[in-house]
Amino acid sequence: MSLHDQEALRFFPTYKRLPLEIARGEGVHLIAADGTRYLDMFAGLAVNDLGYGHAKVLDAIREQSQRYIHLSNYFLQEPQIRLAEVLCRQSGFPRVFFANSGTEAIEGALKIARKWGSTRGKKSLLGFSNAFHGRTMGALSIMDKQKYREGFEPFLEHCRSISFNEPGALRGAVDAGTAAVVLECIQGEGGVRPVTQEFADTIGDLQKQFGFLLIADEIQSGAGRTGTFFAFQHFGLRPDIVTMAKPIGGGLPLGAILGGPAVKDVLQPGMHGTTFGGNPVACAAGIAVLTEIEERGLMKNAEKMGGALKSGFETLMKEFPSLIREVRGKGLMLGIDLQRDGDPVVDAMRERRILINCTDRTVLRFLPPLIIGREHVDQTIAALRDVFRSLR
Ligand code: PLP
Repeated sequence: MSLHDQEALRFFPTYKRLPLEIARGEGVHLIAADGTRYLDMFAGLAVNDLGYGHAKVLDAIREQSQRYIHLSNYFLQEPQIRLAEVLCRQSGFPRVFFANSGTEAIEGALKIARKWGSTRGKKSLLGFSNAFHGRTMGALSIMDKQKYREGFEPFLEHCRSISFNEPGALRGAVDAGTAAVVLECIQGEGGVRPVTQEFADTIGDLQKQFGFLLIADEIQSGAGRTGTFFAFQHFGLRPDIVTMAKPIGGGLPLGAILGGPAVKDVLQPGMHGTTFGGNPVACAAGIAVLTEIEERGLMKNAEKMGGALKSGFETLMKEFPSLIREVRGKGLMLGIDLQRDGDPVVDAMRERRILINCTDRTVLRFLPPLIIGREHVDQTIAALRDVFRSLR
């Protein structure tokens, strides 16, 4: 029986698996069991920022595993302290809490907002249409997509989803009872849709007027992917809380909540916690990733390679106007919105040995490792052109 057949027998069918069996990864490539080499242009969904088998990540994991793999949060753990130092420096924030995943970071951020609001008469939590914040009940409570929510009701009280990029709708929804507004500055899963500057300005104005907390979900966009450390920096926003995950554990499970001055004293001992959060091996791997991003100028590379990829996509849009509706995103978080379903394009790209992802049905999503070079950009554009020609 193949692995795919065994999975079909034993697993809850929660994932649509690709028809590939991966044997190993090497740099920006994945190598299948039959030896075929694929260029990975979505990097474990924005996790593998340094690609596969990076020596510094492997060394960090090896060294920390030999010291200790787990201690429990009764103990101070040096890798947590060092990773917190990097994250606090990048954000300018005074506080960190380590979780295990993105959705857990969101969950903790919502709890901080509720606790903060409990002494101020503020309890409502607002998210935006089409957003994705994870699959736990708190995250689902501020989302609107039926595909994730249907049948899982009832959700948390005093939670709503407001139309994304519609300033009037937000003005009508925020009031003195708003505890927090949760925003992905570039919606990832929702189709690589950036916030408009007008909407970002409206959020900033309302934040000053009503004093709610702004929570920036940087789980997919953070750690340099868009060319700045955080995507909110492109839009002049000043969040009070930032959530991170994906690349910050170097491929091991790790999430983080970063808290600004407004929330720095909200949590006290026992109010929040987790057995595995801030696992020292994950933190050590994360330090290796973030140090490499800084020292090798990978944010600049994301900006440069992202610019080259985006301008290649824009050329394709001129060549194939009946196939491409729009090109969106920043740095190496890019999307091509098609006039048709994206899955056949994903399959055709895989036949050309390039792995891309499709989200929101029509959007080809590109989240490559931050180490890609010009040759990978050119290879991707050439393969897409070939696929689009075959579809025209
Ligand atoms: N928030 C955003 C913006 C995400 O992209 C994701 C995952 O794709 C999550 C939250 C949830 O993260 P996780 O899958 O680690 O729970």
